[in-house]
Amino acid sequence: MRYIIIGGSAAAISAVEAIRSIDKRSPIDLFSDEKTPLFSRVLLPYYVAEELTKPLLNFRALDFFEENNITAHIGVRVKEISADAKTVQTETGETFEFDKLLLATGGKAIVPNIPGIDKEGISTLKTMADADRVYNLKGKKAVVIGAGSIGVESCISLMRRGLKVTLIEQLSQVLPTVFDDEAASIIKAVVEEMGIEVLTGERATRFTGNGRVQGVVTSTREIECDMVVLAVGVRPDITLAKGAGIEIGSLGGIKIDKQMLTSIPDIYAAGDVCETFDVARNTHFINAIWPMAVEQGQVAGLNMAGQTTEYGGSVRMNSIGNFIGFPAMSMGVTHPQECTYVEEDCHFQEIKTRSKNTYKKIILKNGCIVGAIFVGQTQKSGIITALLRKQVDVTDFIPVLLSRNLNFMDILPLVRRNADRFTEPEFKELMDTGL
Ligand SMILES: Cc1cc2nc3c(=O)[nH]c(=O)nc-3n(C[C@H](O)[C@H](O)[C@H](O)COP(=O)(O)OP(=O)(O)OC[C@H]3O[C@@H](n4cnc5c(N)ncnc54)[C@H](O)[C@@H]3O)c2cc1C
Repeated sequence: MRYIIIGGSAAAISAVEAIRSIDKRSPIDLFSDEKTPLFSRVLLPYYVAEELTKPLLNFRALDFFEENNITAHIGVRVKEISADAKTVQTETGETFEFDKLLLATGGKAIVPNIPGIDKEGISTLKTMADADRVYNLKGKKAVVIGAGSIGVESCISLMRRGLKVTLIEQLSQVLPTVFDDEAASIIKAVVEEMGIEVLTGERATRFTGNGRVQGVVTSTREIECDMVVLAVGVRPDITLAKGAGIEIGSLGGIKIDKQMLTSIPDIYAAGDVCETFDVARNTHFINAIWPMAVEQGQVAGLNMAGQTTEYGGSVRMNSIGNFIGFPAMSMGVTHPQECTYVEEDCHFQEIKTRSKNTYKKIILKNGCIVGAIFVGQTQKSGIITALLRKQVDVTDFIPVLLSRNLNFMDILPLVRRNADRFTEPEFKELMDTGL
């Protein structure tokens, strides 16, 4: 068996480990066009903030490839896949044959079409090369465009480096896809207290400066700056998949089945590049987060090595707490209207509690949790995640789930009643850890 893995990040490394857990010997060739191997993208904002040095960004030891008998082609881009010939061609002109191939090509940062976007001092923050660019930018004032998680983390990183930072978001709230407006207003206040200027409902329309960026013009003002970080989103990098004739889903990610197999036999996909079944939405969605990429990589790897395994589905999760220094996390659907189009015949309920320093919301669909937001207090949110993933009917446990002192013992009867929904290892983990 000859395996080829394209990509060298969360999904790719997880797949390699899964393959090696079954097949210790077959050759594995891994291609990554980034020059730095085995770094965690999640930690790039800490590098930009000068809080972690490069060696501390690694999520596996540097001898990982050697230890696992992997031929790693680092800094090498795959140009083309020939599905019929079962080969890949690199940009350096070499051809490699495969029996099983994994596409773990992740996402590409979106670069908006704003006049002046090519000026020096403007960068996305997706790759290590981006992080180095942002790290090396000199100046006193920065503008971050886009208040999703990466945007909020970027502006806090730059602020921690001593820059004066303005965050611009065209929608009416920060973190618009992962928190509701009530949670977002609490988080916005925390970010503003850090000294960051936050402008919501404002859109960048032009960059000024002669060669180098000197300002961002919005619908209402011009903000002077020495650098700009673009954080307007990431979209699946499907260039190779499209070229190979692999079916792409309606959301722009690779379509896969439960075994992470694409529309072409022996070609699998995992991570940010795919659309997967979203447990909360009950339809396909792109949940581009690290833990989902790891899970999907593992399922793909096991199937590639011959152990038939089905993916249970993904759930969006977001935790911004480490950055803002204040607990804040969400999961699944945070705006029920996002999933009403899927099924007309369902009943949504939003249950909220609010105190001076905390805000909690649970969204139910026909009695099962499809989303949750916890701000100010996030302990035991693992219990909610487990109940969401298993679509357990929690109707008679709502007060317990929202209580300040949520304890695993309180929901034990609910878990026991639904034990058949958990696999034996899952059930054991739940009982052992109490999450
Ligand atoms: C700044 C930042 C902060 C983040 N913070 C969080 C967080 O706090 N929590 C969280 O869960 N997630 C976070 N994420 C998202 C998380 O990093 C991704 O979900 C995860 O990295 C996805 O892994 P992946 O393996 O699918 O793809 P990626 O990590 O995108 O890796 C894909 C790799 O494939 C390479 N590649 C693509 N095409 C080719 C080709 N043709 N040939 C060779 N190589 C190729 C790419 O260059 C890239 O190195 C963050 C992302 C960023 C950018």
